[in-house]
Amino acid sequence: MERLKQTKGRAPGLAVVLVGDNPASQVYVSNKTRTGDELGIFNQTLTPPATSTTEEMLEIVYALNRRPDIDGILIQLPLPSQIDTARVLLAVAPHKDVDGFHPCNLGNLATARPGPRPCTPAGIMELLRRNGIPVAGRRAVVIGRSDIVGKPMALLLLHENATVTICHSKTADLPGVCREADILVAAIGRPAMVTRDFIKPGATVIDVGINRVEDRDEAARIFRNDASRLARFDKTGRVLVGDVHPLDVDEVAGAYTPVPGGVGPLTIAMLMMNTIAACEQS
Ligand code: NAP
Repeated sequence: MERLKQTKGRAPGLAVVLVGDNPASQVYVSNKTRTGDELGIFNQTLTPPATSTTEEMLEIVYALNRRPDIDGILIQLPLPSQIDTARVLLAVAPHKDVDGFHPCNLGNLATARPGPRPCTPAGIMELLRRNGIPVAGRRAVVIGRSDIVGKPMALLLLHENATVTICHSKTADLPGVCREADILVAAIGRPAMVTRDFIKPGATVIDVGINRVEDRDEAARIFRNDASRLARFDKTGRVLVGDVHPLDVDEVAGAYTPVPGGVGPLTIAMLMMNTIAACEQS
């Protein structure tokens, strides 16, 4: 960071656009800006109102594209329904697209050219690498085919020479396909859907899902009436659960990422890496 400040005469700069007052988005953004502060990355959060139009959002993005002190632009999703999300993301200059969502950068990813990678899948690859989990030659199954998680995840695993299968809501015999996986990535958005019958014993299971459960009966079903876990629910009236069943994965998997605390912090770390890389290349 010091070297960058000396060569560029300034710290890397990140602009976060947080539209409206979605409480989950506010938490995600404050985690990101706090990490930016800790690392010495200049960051600024813009908070247009929930009533903003697509045109107003485009003006904000164009202005950020022009600012020399901003290396990275992050549009916190989801945007309110009246805003055309695809148009707004497309307006972000590809070299400032630290989320890696721009079609130019997704094309770079598909063709294994350099460029910012979507943060969550990139963080998962880093996690596999740092934990010495081999990828080449192994069977990987990704549940979910979104542009921001499932598809880039599958491509990154493919580039590291895994044999990759992508599953979705129309996949036949989903548990059977998942049981073939040495590395199973769940990016679905369905609390505790991946139960023990999806998991090959000893497999590495990556749980991307972040689901807020606020119904006590649902929490009791997921935690199978485990008193200590339900006591935690009773304190706040809600609990965060991944897409993978927390009790089953603990018994069957060889390694897994917990929710919360697994994949989420890595996503933020990769966002900071993308911002620093964008500054280096500016
Ligand atoms: P998304 O765009 O809603 O995509 C969900 C995918 O899951 C879709 O491809 C969908 O299939 C598939 N799916 C849904 N129900 C299914 C079922 N019953 N069986 C098989 N596949 C099913 O979600 P996303 O943006 O990828 O996010 C997924 C989860 O990850 C969410 O919980 C999100 O909050 C979380 N997330 C976490 C982080 C992090 O930093 N930890 C980052 C991003 C997202 P179809 O395509 O057929 O509809």
